[in-house]
Amino acid sequence: MHTLFARQRALRNKRLTKQPILAFYSSKGEQWRVELRCGHHQLLTHQPPFHQRPWLLSPALRHAMVGCWLPCKEC
Ligand SMILES: [Zn+2]
Repeated sequence: MHTLFARQRALRNKRLTKQPILAFYSSKGEQWRVELRCGHHQLLTHQPPFHQRPWLLSPALRHAMVGCWLPCKEC
């Protein structure tokens, strides 16, 4: 049981390929998503409020994050 869990976690970590951020966009000004270079899109603000990223609310800070690497959950 324990080893199975560890193996699943190892597989998951292996699958997380980092991809550069191309752009940010939001729907209704709440749900921020990133577009990654691999073509996948990722939702950033589905976590509880204390996990929200304050830089998402600032256009300048968002712009500064373009080109940063984010682990893609689908690659
Ligand atoms: Zn991807």
